[in-house]
Amino acid sequence: MKIIFLGAPGAGKGTQAEIVSEKYSIPAISTGSIIREAIKNKTEMGLAAQAYTDGGKLVPDEVVIGIIKERLSEDDCKNGFILDGFPRTVPQAEALDKMGIPIDLVISIEVSDDDIVKRMSGRRVCPNCSASYHTLYKPSEDGVHCSKCGAELSIRNDDRPEVVLQRLEVYHETTEPLKDYYKSTGKLQLVEGQEELADTTALTLAVIDKASKN
Ligand code: ADP
Ligand code: ZN
Repeated sequence: MKIIFLGAPGAGKGTQAEIVSEKYSIPAISTGSIIREAIKNKTEMGLAAQAYTDGGKLVPDEVVIGIIKERLSEDDCKNGFILDGFPRTVPQAEALDKMGIPIDLVISIEVSDDDIVKRMSGRRVCPNCSASYHTLYKPSEDGVHCSKCGAELSIRNDDRPEVVLQRLEVYHETTEPLKDYYKSTGKLQLVEGQEELADTTALTLAVIDKASKN
């Protein structure tokens, strides 16, 4: 299966993408994670991207399109993949179409702006291995350290409240129109984000199961 996850920042698409990735043994590709890794390693791309991500703005299309082109050409993507956070603009979606890789399903995780703002304050990440947590919805074992590698958890630079509002605005203006883009292809399915992570996962898996039988 080739699946795209859409949704506002903090809607939980990354978490769902990882669960589906494990269940179906296909890679979950997060442009946000690739960019954060590049920033951490101070690569040329990372240094150029940091001003955008820190300000809650999108990294320019040609940069992320380049990242995705390269990543999708790797062998592990042959049997399917999950895109988490790409495309985020209509030109990115058009570029993906031009790559000639047919997408089976587009899942948009729907969460209201109020809930997004509430959720974002609980997000935590591991600065060492990039695992993500949430104080309420997905706590680490001791609430302070990463359950995978033991490093102390931190708050992402772009999860500060003022940046979150900027990211939400960018989502509504630039990314949300992609729902219409994919609705017209018949590939779009909406999943209402639930209070409990497991309930959202159940809805997501049901949508994938149904699509895989088509
Ligand atoms: P979230 O979905 O929680 O906003 P991501 O980890 O997906 O977080 O993205 C973090 C940041 O990385 C974005 O705010 C943006 O600056 C950049 N980014 C990620 N994916 C894209 C993309 N497809 N196009 C442009 N910028 C992107
Ligand atoms: Zn870790």
